[in-house]
Amino acid sequence: MSDVVVLGAGIAGHTAALHLSRKLGQEHTVTVVSPNSYWNWIPSNIWVGVGKMKRKQVVFPLGPIYRKKGISFEQAEAVAIRPYGDAEDPRGAVDIVRTDPAQAGETDRIRFDYLINATGPKLKFSATEGLGPDGFTVSVCTADHAVEAAAQFREVIAKLKRGQRQTIVVGVGHGTCTCEGAAFEYVFNVDTELRDAGVRDLARVIYLTNEAELGDFGVGGMVFDEHGYQTTSKIWTESLFRERGVEAIAGAHVERIEPNIVHFETLDGEHHSLEFDYAMLLPPFGGVDLAAYDRDGNDITSELFAPNGFMKVDADYTAKPYEQWRAEDWPKTYECPGFDNIFAVGIAFAPPHQISRPRKSPNGTLIAPAPPRTGMPSGVMAKTAALTIVDRIQKGKATPARDASMTEMGAACVASAGTGLRSGSAAAMTMMPVVPDYSKYPTGRDTKDTRGELGLHGHWVKLMLHYLFIYKAKGLPGWFLIPE
Ligand SMILES: Cc1cc2nc3c(=O)[nH]c(=O)nc-3n(C[C@H](O)[C@H](O)[C@H](O)COP(=O)(O)OP(=O)(O)OC[C@H]3O[C@@H](n4cnc5c(N)ncnc54)[C@H](O)[C@@H]3O)c2cc1C
Repeated sequence: MSDVVVLGAGIAGHTAALHLSRKLGQEHTVTVVSPNSYWNWIPSNIWVGVGKMKRKQVVFPLGPIYRKKGISFEQAEAVAIRPYGDAEDPRGAVDIVRTDPAQAGETDRIRFDYLINATGPKLKFSATEGLGPDGFTVSVCTADHAVEAAAQFREVIAKLKRGQRQTIVVGVGHGTCTCEGAAFEYVFNVDTELRDAGVRDLARVIYLTNEAELGDFGVGGMVFDEHGYQTTSKIWTESLFRERGVEAIAGAHVERIEPNIVHFETLDGEHHSLEFDYAMLLPPFGGVDLAAYDRDGNDITSELFAPNGFMKVDADYTAKPYEQWRAEDWPKTYECPGFDNIFAVGIAFAPPHQISRPRKSPNGTLIAPAPPRTGMPSGVMAKTAALTIVDRIQKGKATPARDASMTEMGAACVASAGTGLRSGSAAAMTMMPVVPDYSKYPTGRDTKDTRGELGLHGHWVKLMLHYLFIYKAKGLPGWFLIPE
């Protein structure tokens, strides 16, 4: 009998848990540890954040699904990993602090034979003074944040309807942020909502980003091949913004936010202040606060985790200049080095290097979009690690790990406005692979599958993904036939 523990019930952790329970018999246990009792389809938080969807359309409770699937659920935060166990038991263990209201603050230690760390990002609003819902800006990173963003956005529309001009800033709140695609989606939705409300002419909409140029998206930009003509994601995004009257400030590191003023530095070293009435700025991501200890209680956190808090896996972390990084440096199995029973997937694994070229301002400020680990790759690597564990339980510990590299995986960023079947439009980008491989493709990516498209079709895709992924996450009949 084996005990498998999954930390996190987001896109990666929940996917892993469902596959583990499907593949492993009743003699094994699958336990999910996660602080929230509900699952959130995060990409649709964008629609919640402009008031187009209700919170209840993007979340559902995990408990009933886990009971049906025979998965144990611990509503708790993992705080430490003990890969070698402790004095009582040499099996691996995880220390947890319960978060369900009935037992809040109680601690426990749960044992594992196999562990998947899928704890996603720590939302580091504290990296920038005044950033986030406890400061002076809103966010759409969680469903609750998005509800608050929508409420404030409604007030902005009401003011515009009364004839008051408003400045809306959307983007990222630090020079090292990732997830620019989400900010791009949100600004696209904001623009559409303002138009639908008939007040676009009174609003100044500004996209504020750490990307050195538009269309970078933390992946160094893309080259699209449309009907034999090559274009870049830079030109594509610029023309989209120009057409919609969205102003852009690129290469920006937000330094500090005061009520209605954002202070930032740009790549040329200049410092600027911008007044705003409403700002949705994403925070930088770090790994969640997880420590690691050996059997004697010595701190071995730096053995398992990179300094940014993400877990080390089978990547090449050797420090080298940006130009020398290669596709093969990226991880394939997501096994934590030295432990064939511990894996990190989704945002929780430490990327070996930047995909987008890191830059510094003349003042030495790092302005460098971090590599995104989007939904589709997070699901694929979670399934891969889960199936490796199933293989090792069923065929023996020496069974080789399965692999799935982000240098062979695609990703999609669909900025879709409107949630109906007949109304709506999307700016949809797909890239293949996420991490460019210049040894295979002259532009780093396969131009057949790297595209930028506008129109109703992309909107339908986004709407279909919303319903399909919620169906899949609910583990409804045939869920596993829907790809990650
Ligand atoms: C607004 C927004 C829009 C996005 N849109 C898209 C999109 O259109 N397409 C796309 O591909 N990607 C999109 N993404 C990215 C996508 O949401 C992420 O790639 C994905 O959620 C990563 O999955 P994950 O499981 O690694 O992390 P998450 O989904 O964030 O899950 C992490 C889980 O770990 C739990 N956890 C946290 N701390 C602990 C702890 N200490 N112990 C145990 N559990 C813990 C959390 O509660 C959560 O359940 C978007 C992201 C944002 C913020």
